Amino acid sequence: MSELTLERGLAALRAEIDGPVAAFFSSCVHCGICATACPFYVETGDPKYTPILKVEPLRRVWKSEFTLWGRLLSTLGLTKKVTDELLAEWEPLLYDSCSMCGRCSLVCPVGNDIQAMVRKTREGMVASGHAPEGLIAASVRAIQTGSPMGLQWKTLQVQIEHVQSSTGLEVPVDKAGVDYLVMLSSMEVINFPEYLEAITKIFDHAGVTWTLSTQCFEATNAGIQIGSKDVAGLLVQRVVDAAVKLGVKNLISPECGHAYTAIRWEGPNLIGKPYPFKVFHIVEVLDELRASGRIKTEGMETDRLTMHDPCNLARKSGVIDQQRNLMNLVAENFVDLKEHGKLQWCCGAGGGVSSNERAEPLKMAAFKHKKAQIEEVSPARMVTMCATCRTQLEEGLEEFNMDIPVVGLTEMIADHLVEKA
Ligand code: SF4
Ligand code: SF4
Repeated sequence: MSELTLERGLAALRAEIDGPVAAFFSSCVHCGICATACPFYVETGDPKYTPILKVEPLRRVWKSEFTLWGRLLSTLGLTKKVTDELLAEWEPLLYDSCSMCGRCSLVCPVGNDIQAMVRKTREGMVASGHAPEGLIAASVRAIQTGSPMGLQWKTLQVQIEHVQSSTGLEVPVDKAGVDYLVMLSSMEVINFPEYLEAITKIFDHAGVTWTLSTQCFEATNAGIQIGSKDVAGLLVQRVVDAAVKLGVKNLISPECGHAYTAIRWEGPNLIGKPYPFKVFHIVEVLDELRASGRIKTEGMETDRLTMHDPCNLARKSGVIDQQRNLMNLVAENFVDLKEHGKLQWCCGAGGGVSSNERAEPLKMAAFKHKKAQIEEVSPARMVTMCATCRTQLEEGLEEFNMDIPVVGLTEMIADHLVEKA
């Protein structure tokens, strides 16, 4: 940790300033609309949680070093500097009160991508030693063990054996040349083991060839969450190496929002080259199988169901219709939340907030907006497709004494498969 210094942090912030960042800062009209889109601001009412204010360290470096007026003021000692004290003060604003949900970026009238700037500012926070303990620990575990939760293959192996004995089906491991390499998230393996059983059943039903990899099974990327390109790139490279070694055509990101954006959108830039395979979220694959008639279901859920769209999937990746097509296949009483799809509200736990114990009170405060939305439609159950969102929904609903079970979409589809003759 000794090499994490203010100077390194400033250098990292400088390195993040490019044309788009300069355009964002210079075009901000200080309207405050971004605040009205942020669950952390809306539910606390505290102006310090205004999205554009969270990137103040980056703005100060831009202003004092990249603008003529700022440079002139700097020579006179009249600019506000970035200090260790400032970074310490901003650490909770950049990590505890931002799930990088991107809702602020969507509503900004001048197209200011604040979420991307939070991501960039976190690079400076990490390099200067101002990242939360929980995220540092998760990153170290991810580098050392392959999993941010320290999950080992031997634990997954036990789950694989359980799935095989309960379904009578093989869970393929290290099969070269198959169509899909299936990635998992540690949170899913630990909290929602039914996911692995569900995809085993669905892929057998649809005749899909697939495999897990003992070399790399973890899809989540702690480097993206803490804000370190070095860590993020290393973790992406591990996934790519496993996929290339097995010669797969496609890679499936699990029911996890940020894992999908990390490997699908950021990954090629992080490793500096395109992949020799395609990347899909599991709901994209399931909807494609549905559309091509390879998933045959029977029976319908009859209770009132609603859905939480993960931010990374719906708003940041445009995967919106697929999950609704799948819901309509198996649910006859499905109702959307009032604001859903690209305008949905974050559950409050993404962007590393759930790995940061200090952020627990703010995480629950942000959840109140989702809670209010859920109360509007009074569902019997909720469906989602991200293990982090699902965990937060379960914890939040329990916190507020709302007896609404949460189900994974993949699991729900598996429950309705027509039995093989
Ligand atoms: S919404 Fe955009 S223009 Fe308005 S204050 Fe926020 S960042 Fe600036
Ligand atoms: S990305 Fe989401 S949580 Fe972060 S500042 Fe913007 S609206 Fe708030």
